[in-house]
Amino acid sequence: MSDHRELARDMDLFHFEEHSPGMVFWHPQGLRLFHNVETFMRQVYQAHGFEEVRSPVALSRSLWERSGHWAKFRKGMFVVSDGAVDAEAKSVRSSDPGYALKPMSCPAHIAIYQSHKRSYREHPIRFMEFGMCHRNELSGALSGCMRLRQFVQDDAHIFCREADVQQEISRFLKMVQRVYVAFGYEQFSLQISLRPEQRLGSDALWDRAEALLIGAVEALGHSYQLAPNEGAFYGPKLEISLQDQLGRSWQCGTFQIDFNLPHLFELAFVNERGELERPVMLHQAVLGSLERWIGILLEHHRGILPIWAAPTQVAIASISDKASD
Ligand SMILES: [Zn+2]
Repeated sequence: MSDHRELARDMDLFHFEEHSPGMVFWHPQGLRLFHNVETFMRQVYQAHGFEEVRSPVALSRSLWERSGHWAKFRKGMFVVSDGAVDAEAKSVRSSDPGYALKPMSCPAHIAIYQSHKRSYREHPIRFMEFGMCHRNELSGALSGCMRLRQFVQDDAHIFCREADVQQEISRFLKMVQRVYVAFGYEQFSLQISLRPEQRLGSDALWDRAEALLIGAVEALGHSYQLAPNEGAFYGPKLEISLQDQLGRSWQCGTFQIDFNLPHLFELAFVNERGELERPVMLHQAVLGSLERWIGILLEHHRGILPIWAAPTQVAIASISDKASD
């Protein structure tokens, strides 16, 4: 048996229901597995200089308009009313600004960055969140844990200077190596995804971001493949794909260089000369969706998980009742 849905049923980990398509019902054993993965990742992130944060699931439409998500990613978001219903018309007021459930945590981490004045001394600033994200995937595209509408992502953002980017990529690749090996994966490959057709910002900014990413990966001595048109709408991506025991390749880790969101949100810190300087924003996930990661992990190990992650780690059985004590 190697389908994660069958393994989950057999191991009593989680199930799906028709009335919540693309969302997981975690059972006690499954949630223990989920927490084991989360706790391990929390330790890894802390060891690499990240501070954990938590931000709201719903953010106002105006924020998504500013970040460009409303224009570029609107179809992928669940939009909700603020609940103000006109008693007469029994309909939502047309002035209702609306909220969207976050498909990613980037603008929320920007809000934390902007909550007070920043100094060059604090940088790089590294935030991470086990962010509950929602994406309105087509119902036909949903597939167990592999494609969901609600998932938790190890969603991290680094605010730094351009000169720090190479060191941050080096740190990211060390994290990836440590984590993938711990989960029992031996092989992974790198891909650099370049500007997509639907994108923010000038070609000059994209030229700079792509050159920076390619230069850093080459300086670290890694080989990679180039994927034109597959970058995020705000920046190019370094993507990590692991190979499972069935020979399949899964893209999980991602690292993105972004000059556009810092520009749109007018991010700034005070540098050594007392001037305002704009940081670079780096987006990173090592696992991606934790639910999908667990689905891949179950299939890779056919349910026989690394002992530290397994929900039941040890079971003691006596040879007869006489020996039970
Ligand atoms: Zn992000």
